[in-house]
Amino acid sequence: MSGRKKSQAAKNLSLIMAEGYKNLHQRAAEGAFCIWIAINVPAEVFEGFENVVYAVPESHSAMCAGKGVGPAMCEKAERIGYSMDLCSYARIDIGNATDGGEDSPTFGLPKPDLLVSNNNNCSLLAKWFDVHSREWGVPHFIMDVPFCYEPQQEKDRVYITSQINDLIRLIEKLSGQTFKPDRFAEAVHHTWKGFREWKRFLGLARKTPSPITAFDSFVHMAPVLTLRGTPSLKQHYTLLTDEALAVVEEEKYPVPRERYRLFWDNIAPWHQLRKMSSRLAEMDANIVGASYTSCLGTIEGSFELYDWDESNPFDYLVRTMNSYMCPHGMELRSKAMKEAIENLSIDGVIFASNRSCKPYSITQMDQQKRIKESLGMPAVMIEVDHADARKYSEENAFLRIEALLETIDAKRNARA
Ligand code: SF4
Repeated sequence: MSGRKKSQAAKNLSLIMAEGYKNLHQRAAEGAFCIWIAINVPAEVFEGFENVVYAVPESHSAMCAGKGVGPAMCEKAERIGYSMDLCSYARIDIGNATDGGEDSPTFGLPKPDLLVSNNNNCSLLAKWFDVHSREWGVPHFIMDVPFCYEPQQEKDRVYITSQINDLIRLIEKLSGQTFKPDRFAEAVHHTWKGFREWKRFLGLARKTPSPITAFDSFVHMAPVLTLRGTPSLKQHYTLLTDEALAVVEEEKYPVPRERYRLFWDNIAPWHQLRKMSSRLAEMDANIVGASYTSCLGTIEGSFELYDWDESNPFDYLVRTMNSYMCPHGMELRSKAMKEAIENLSIDGVIFASNRSCKPYSITQMDQQKRIKESLGMPAVMIEVDHADARKYSEENAFLRIEALLETIDAKRNARA
């Protein structure tokens, strides 16, 4: 990210994402049954059908923000009455729907035949999909996924599995297609192999200096959301991991004089990736890990991979629906963060209080206090909005980050 020349993995990412969106539009135009989903919905289910495609509005909104069109699209939603306080992903998506994706780098998303959301990341998401449901007269299936204060219980597993089965029956009824369990199982295996490679890549951040930055993980996480259930996942993350291993071999580190190893808590600031990573590298600081990307495919209260025994694909999907930060209670978040701080030899934590995502941000003040008290870990809180650049001040954020680095230095000096 910090001014490095475009790698093979970066080129591959552009290619598979462009092909993915092209394929989505083309197949939908040719009559495929099109479903819009929240990120936490198990997309592998759709691979169980011959002719079903899916789109992920949250991922599309993140891409729009990364390309610099987030605020313009938010304003379209605000002009028709949506509050600036709503999540910027929702505002971008609703704004995008007002003119059929005029400013979108992917020409928007094809209109859905079905909307599928869930309520464990946040309840706003279900209301956001309701807007489209009312506007376009499209059915909306809401998965009711219990909040997560401890590892998933058997009763929760049974409850969520029954809803996935209801969803399958609904798609069969609406699309006229038949669900094929073999196709579905194969898709789940593709996802599992992809997650294993993803974790191998992230695990390289344990090395000092780190051959990767959290910004690499932010940029390369998109296929986890939009290409689930396909062989592209594993192929891409193997390429990415091999490149990171070559960085170690050639000693061409992204932050060559890595002096501060930091951890990021919250969604990526999509509109700031290049700027922020470059400015941090100039300060010899590397954000080597992030809760946002570390949690994918993991178990509750840890960033370790959920180790599937490859028996029941439904069990795997249901359990990994818990692998996101927003549905996690305080204890689980705290435990995972402490583990990451130790595993990645972290010197300081940046808590990015996110104006848009209240569920992610709500525990941060207490988390900051906890890691300061229990680990003596320097930490700072900065204000961001993941997709609306109007609600971010680079100078204010960096004033605090500089203060964090000074605190780390003071702590080191006191030890010397
Ligand atoms: S508020 Fe947070 S969890 Fe909800 S849709 Fe926005 S980013 Fe996702």
